[in-house]
Amino acid sequence: MNIVSFTASNFEGECNVDEEFVPLLNQMNAIAVQHNMIVVVTSSFRKDTNVSGAIVTPAQMSNHLIGHAIDFNVKSKTTGEFFNSKKMGDGTGADELFLEDVDRNTDLRWGQAFNKPDSVHFDDAINIKMPLVWQQKFNDVHDIA
Ligand SMILES: [Zn+2]
Repeated sequence: MNIVSFTASNFEGECNVDEEFVPLLNQMNAIAVQHNMIVVVTSSFRKDTNVSGAIVTPAQMSNHLIGHAIDFNVKSKTTGEFFNSKKMGDGTGADELFLEDVDRNTDLRWGQAFNKPDSVHFDDAINIKMPLVWQQKFNDVHDIA
């Protein structure tokens, strides 16, 4: 597994992800261009420093731990308006139009649909769709054979 630094025309902020996740962020960037929005990344790959072994329970299988998730805020290039987590989760506005377009038309899913809504989070659901691949990547990050 290879963590890379992602950059794109409508992305700001440090964004480190698995190189296999990059095509999805490029899809997202293309939609951001259409909406004239900037994606301001606040969190991406997070290395779990609290690892005692190879066993990870499903609840702990965050896609951030393998570079398959980002947290971000949205900024309008048209009006300069900044959309924080509260605005991103309030169900209305130019930010929702952008976020729903990404949710519908890319392979990314929006955390707003989670049981505990997470309006700033997008990932590819690899922890649910391919848990063995998730585990393999986690093991790679931590040099667990
Ligand atoms: Zn997140």
